[in-house]
Amino acid sequence: MQVKARGVLSKESPFHAIEIERRELQPDDVLIEIHYCGICHSDIHSARGEWGEVRYPFVPGHEITGIVSKVGSQVTKFKPGDRVGVGCMVDSCGECENCKRGDEQYCVKGNIQTYGSVDRYGQYTMGGYSTHIVVKEDFVLRIPDALPLDKAAPLLCAGITTYSPLRHWQAGPGKEVAVIGLGGLGHMAVKLAKAMGAEVTVLSQSLRKKEDGLRLGAKAYYATSDPETFRQLAGRFDLIINTVSAKIPITAYLGLLKTDGALVNVGAPPEPLEVNAFALIAQRRTFAGSCIGGIRETQEMLDFCAEHGVTPEIEVISADEIDAAWERVLKSDVRYRFVIDISTMRN
Ligand code: NAP
Ligand code: ZN
Repeated sequence: MQVKARGVLSKESPFHAIEIERRELQPDDVLIEIHYCGICHSDIHSARGEWGEVRYPFVPGHEITGIVSKVGSQVTKFKPGDRVGVGCMVDSCGECENCKRGDEQYCVKGNIQTYGSVDRYGQYTMGGYSTHIVVKEDFVLRIPDALPLDKAAPLLCAGITTYSPLRHWQAGPGKEVAVIGLGGLGHMAVKLAKAMGAEVTVLSQSLRKKEDGLRLGAKAYYATSDPETFRQLAGRFDLIINTVSAKIPITAYLGLLKTDGALVNVGAPPEPLEVNAFALIAQRRTFAGSCIGGIRETQEMLDFCAEHGVTPEIEVISADEIDAAWERVLKSDVRYRFVIDISTMRN
């Protein structure tokens, strides 16, 4: 099946309207008419080859929401008309201990990503900047009625990527949580940590977005460009979530953790991050990483957001505005997630 998409043709290329192939519906597949797709900084890292070589044309997008239009003969969980979502993964081995536990993102054979992977049919996967996608039902999420499809889209990556470490490191009442970087992931981290009952502080490059940060649920907001911030907040936090897409001086941030505190990196800059061992040793601190979340946990996050009224702040754009939106993301000028209205791609 040929469907419309927007893709880049090289590392430097702007977006072009192209047609791509989606596989014939297999017995366990769901065909989704995409309504919205969020723009994640990972789309940019990937398309520009910052994480390694990719194939062109390259169609990004892993914050997908839409409506089921057809289901395969053995599909039991979905029917046409259902409101659904797809995040960063579309398949995994299903047999390793991580997959069995519901941590498909840590599949020991490597999960199949929504874009930029070779799937079990030998096809190079293409993401959600397109009108339709075919996905195995086990990797399709149900969007609760309380969540509009446009606002639900960013939850499929930005939402789960911050929800999972907040849960794993037990953000909640009495816990001091800091979020580094108030972009797509960062603003979700603030809202989710607040909804979990934690005390939230934003650590941003400047005070430019301070009012927003406080409105989103932070109780404090500091500029990391001011060295005084690092003196004032030394030893303050139980948990720090780093959402920054670029290399930052991790050692300085480790100094803001309490004894036994953890700094969890979800930001994925291409350059290695440097850590001074003494910053860890001195207070038994942890420096960790976290990758999206499993399918079961993603559904739990969607239900949590519906129940607590947690949704991202979005700016809906047309398909012709993707290049401009990417430029704004690169300038940290996103408030706080761009979402493509896929209906603008259909005609
Ligand atoms: P984003 O919207 O661009 O947000 C990143 C924020 O980091 C910016 O808004 C900015 O916040 C801050 N920042 C940017 N450049 C900086 C610099 N040079 N120094 C200090 N701070 C800087 O990006 P995103 O979509 O949230 O993604 C963030 C990162 O997470 C990306 O690397 C992405 O690939 C990664 N990611 C990882 C996972 C995972 O599973 N681990 C999933 C999704 C995304 P301020 O203006 O407030 O400083
Ligand atoms: Zn993402």
